[in-house]
Amino acid sequence: MSEVETEKIRLATVWLSGCSGCHMSLLDMDEHLLELEKAVRLVFSPLADHKRFPDGVDVVLVEGAVANVEQLAMARTIRERSRVVVALGDCAVTGNVPSLRNRLDSDALLRAVYAGGECVPGLDPKGLVPKLLPSVLPLHRVVSVDVFLPGCPPDAQSIWAAVTALIRGEPLNLSEAMRRFG
Ligand code: SF4
Repeated sequence: MSEVETEKIRLATVWLSGCSGCHMSLLDMDEHLLELEKAVRLVFSPLADHKRFPDGVDVVLVEGAVANVEQLAMARTIRERSRVVVALGDCAVTGNVPSLRNRLDSDALLRAVYAGGECVPGLDPKGLVPKLLPSVLPLHRVVSVDVFLPGCPPDAQSIWAAVTALIRGEPLNLSEAMRRFG
Protein backbone atom coordinates (compact mmCIF):
# COMPACT_ATOMS: atom_id res chain seq x y z
CA MET A 1 0.00 0.00 0.00
CA SER A 2 1.39 3.41 -0.95
CA GLU A 3 2.12 6.17 1.56
CA VAL A 4 -0.56 8.34 -0.05
CA GLU A 5 -3.13 5.57 0.32
CA THR A 6 -2.47 5.15 4.04
CA GLU A 7 -3.28 8.83 4.56
CA LYS A 8 -6.67 8.57 2.92
CA ILE A 9 -9.88 8.60 4.92
CA ARG A 10 -11.37 5.12 5.11
CA LEU A 11 -14.92 5.47 3.79
CA ALA A 12 -17.57 2.75 3.75
CA THR A 13 -21.14 2.69 2.46
CA VAL A 14 -23.73 0.13 3.47
CA TRP A 15 -27.11 -0.83 2.04
CA LEU A 16 -29.56 -2.22 4.60
CA SER A 17 -33.33 -2.20 3.96
CA GLY A 18 -33.60 0.46 1.27
CA CYS A 19 -34.18 0.80 -2.45
CA SER A 20 -30.60 1.82 -3.40
CA GLY A 21 -31.86 5.29 -4.27
CA CYS A 22 -29.56 6.84 -1.68
CA HIS A 23 -26.58 5.16 -3.32
CA MET A 24 -27.79 6.40 -6.71
CA SER A 25 -27.85 9.90 -5.24
CA LEU A 26 -24.30 9.36 -3.99
CA LEU A 27 -23.26 8.53 -7.56
CA ASP A 28 -25.07 11.67 -8.75
CA MET A 29 -22.23 13.71 -7.25
CA ASP A 30 -20.75 13.32 -10.74
CA GLU A 31 -17.39 15.11 -11.04
CA HIS A 32 -17.17 15.50 -7.27
CA LEU A 33 -16.61 11.73 -7.16
CA LEU A 34 -13.19 12.35 -8.70
CA GLU A 35 -12.35 14.82 -5.94
CA LEU A 36 -13.65 12.39 -3.36
CA GLU A 37 -11.46 9.63 -4.73
CA LYS A 38 -8.39 11.74 -3.98
CA ALA A 39 -9.31 12.02 -0.31
CA VAL A 40 -10.86 8.65 0.56
CA ARG A 41 -10.31 4.97 0.13
CA LEU A 42 -13.55 3.02 -0.30
CA VAL A 43 -13.08 0.07 2.04
CA PHE A 44 -16.59 -1.42 1.92
CA SER A 45 -19.59 -0.75 -0.31
CA PRO A 46 -22.28 -2.43 -2.42
CA LEU A 47 -20.70 -0.44 -5.25
CA ALA A 48 -17.61 -2.68 -4.95
CA ASP A 49 -16.93 -6.33 -4.18
CA HIS A 50 -15.95 -6.33 -0.53
CA LYS A 51 -16.86 -9.43 1.48
CA ARG A 52 -16.33 -8.27 5.05
CA PHE A 53 -16.93 -4.97 6.83
CA PRO A 54 -13.40 -4.00 7.93
CA ASP A 55 -12.01 -2.57 11.15
CA GLY A 56 -10.91 1.03 11.44
CA VAL A 57 -13.49 2.75 9.23
CA ASP A 58 -13.43 6.54 9.53
CA VAL A 59 -16.83 7.38 8.03
CA VAL A 60 -19.67 5.05 7.05
CA LEU A 61 -22.79 6.07 5.15
CA VAL A 62 -25.67 3.73 6.00
CA GLU A 63 -28.64 3.55 3.64
CA GLY A 64 -31.81 1.81 4.74
CA ALA A 65 -33.67 0.76 7.84
CA VAL A 66 -33.03 -2.31 9.99
CA ALA A 67 -35.57 -4.96 9.06
CA ASN A 68 -34.08 -8.40 9.78
CA VAL A 69 -31.58 -10.19 12.00
CA GLU A 70 -28.76 -9.99 9.45
CA GLN A 71 -29.16 -6.24 9.16
CA LEU A 72 -29.26 -5.91 12.94
CA ALA A 73 -25.96 -7.79 13.24
CA MET A 74 -24.49 -5.68 10.43
CA ALA A 75 -25.57 -2.45 12.11
CA ARG A 76 -23.82 -3.52 15.33
CA THR A 77 -20.68 -4.49 13.43
CA ILE A 78 -20.68 -1.15 11.63
CA ARG A 79 -20.96 0.73 14.92
CA GLU A 80 -18.16 -1.25 16.56
CA ARG A 81 -15.75 -0.69 13.68
CA SER A 82 -16.52 2.88 12.61
CA ARG A 83 -15.65 6.28 14.03
CA VAL A 84 -18.50 8.27 12.41
CA VAL A 85 -21.81 6.62 11.50
CA VAL A 86 -24.07 8.56 9.14
CA ALA A 87 -27.75 7.64 8.73
CA LEU A 88 -28.11 8.31 5.00
CA GLY A 89 -31.65 9.03 3.88
CA ASP A 90 -35.11 8.78 5.37
CA CYS A 91 -35.18 4.98 5.62
CA ALA A 92 -32.13 5.02 7.91
CA VAL A 93 -33.31 8.16 9.72
CA THR A 94 -36.99 7.30 10.33
CA GLY A 95 -37.74 3.84 8.91
CA ASN A 96 -39.63 5.47 6.03
CA VAL A 97 -40.92 3.11 3.31
CA PRO A 98 -39.71 -0.24 4.77
CA SER A 99 -41.47 0.55 8.06
CA LEU A 100 -44.85 0.53 6.28
CA ARG A 101 -44.87 -3.20 7.01
CA ASN A 102 -44.93 -2.50 10.76
CA ARG A 103 -48.74 -2.43 10.65
CA LEU A 104 -48.88 -5.86 9.02
CA ASP A 105 -48.37 -9.39 10.26
CA SER A 106 -44.83 -10.42 9.25
CA ASP A 107 -45.59 -14.10 8.70
CA ALA A 108 -48.64 -13.33 6.56
CA LEU A 109 -46.57 -10.85 4.58
CA LEU A 110 -43.80 -13.39 3.94
CA ARG A 111 -46.34 -15.98 2.79
CA ALA A 112 -48.04 -13.48 0.48
CA VAL A 113 -44.77 -12.29 -1.09
CA TYR A 114 -42.86 -15.58 -1.37
CA ALA A 115 -45.51 -18.28 -1.49
CA GLY A 116 -48.48 -16.52 -3.04
CA GLY A 117 -47.16 -16.13 -6.56
CA GLU A 118 -47.93 -18.51 -9.39
CA CYS A 119 -44.22 -19.15 -10.04
CA VAL A 120 -43.48 -20.59 -6.62
CA PRO A 121 -46.72 -21.97 -5.22
CA GLY A 122 -46.32 -23.43 -1.75
CA LEU A 123 -42.79 -22.12 -1.26
CA ASP A 124 -41.89 -21.85 2.43
CA PRO A 125 -39.90 -18.62 2.88
CA LYS A 126 -38.57 -19.68 6.29
CA GLY A 127 -34.89 -20.44 5.87
CA LEU A 128 -34.75 -18.71 2.49
CA VAL A 129 -34.70 -15.17 3.76
CA PRO A 130 -33.22 -13.76 6.99
CA LYS A 131 -35.61 -13.75 9.93
CA LEU A 132 -37.59 -10.53 10.01
CA LEU A 133 -37.52 -8.37 13.13
CA PRO A 134 -40.97 -7.78 14.66
CA SER A 135 -40.72 -4.15 13.49
CA VAL A 136 -38.59 -2.29 10.98
CA LEU A 137 -36.43 0.17 12.91
CA PRO A 138 -34.52 3.32 12.03
CA LEU A 139 -30.78 2.98 12.53
CA HIS A 140 -30.60 5.04 15.73
CA ARG A 141 -32.98 2.59 17.44
CA VAL A 142 -30.35 -0.16 17.31
CA VAL A 143 -27.00 1.69 17.43
CA SER A 144 -25.86 5.22 18.15
CA VAL A 145 -25.75 7.49 15.11
CA ASP A 146 -23.44 10.49 14.77
CA VAL A 147 -24.97 12.28 11.77
CA PHE A 148 -28.49 12.25 10.32
CA LEU A 149 -28.80 13.10 6.63
CA PRO A 150 -32.53 13.06 5.78
CA GLY A 151 -34.16 13.07 2.37
CA CYS A 152 -35.64 10.43 0.08
CA PRO A 153 -33.05 10.37 -1.20
CA PRO A 154 -30.83 13.12 0.16
CA ASP A 155 -29.73 15.16 -2.84
CA ALA A 156 -26.21 14.74 -4.14
CA GLN A 157 -25.14 18.19 -2.97
CA SER A 158 -26.17 17.41 0.61
CA ILE A 159 -24.22 14.16 0.55
CA TRP A 160 -21.19 15.88 -0.95
CA ALA A 161 -21.38 18.67 1.62
CA ALA A 162 -21.68 16.22 4.51
CA VAL A 163 -18.93 13.89 3.34
CA THR A 164 -16.45 16.66 2.63
CA ALA A 165 -17.07 18.27 6.01
CA LEU A 166 -16.63 14.92 7.76
CA ILE A 167 -13.42 13.98 6.00
CA ARG A 168 -11.99 17.42 6.72
CA GLY A 169 -12.98 17.08 10.37
CA GLU A 170 -15.07 20.24 10.15
CA PRO A 171 -18.27 20.86 12.08
CA LEU A 172 -21.21 19.81 9.95
CA ASN A 173 -23.22 22.82 8.87
CA LEU A 174 -25.08 21.59 5.80
CA SER A 175 -26.45 24.92 4.61
CA GLU A 176 -23.04 26.60 4.86
CA ALA A 177 -21.20 23.63 3.34
CA MET A 178 -23.65 23.43 0.43
CA ARG A 179 -23.16 27.12 -0.28
CA ARG A 180 -19.38 26.63 -0.49
CA PHE A 181 -19.37 23.40 -2.48
CA GLY A 182 -22.49 24.02 -4.54
FE1 SF4 B 1 -34.80 4.63 -1.23
FE2 SF4 B 1 -35.72 6.93 -0.21
FE3 SF4 B 1 -35.14 4.90 1.41
FE4 SF4 B 1 -33.15 6.21 0.19
S1 SF4 B 1 -34.56 7.07 1.72
S2 SF4 B 1 -33.35 3.97 0.39
S3 SF4 B 1 -34.14 6.71 -1.78
S4 SF4 B 1 -36.76 4.91 -0.17
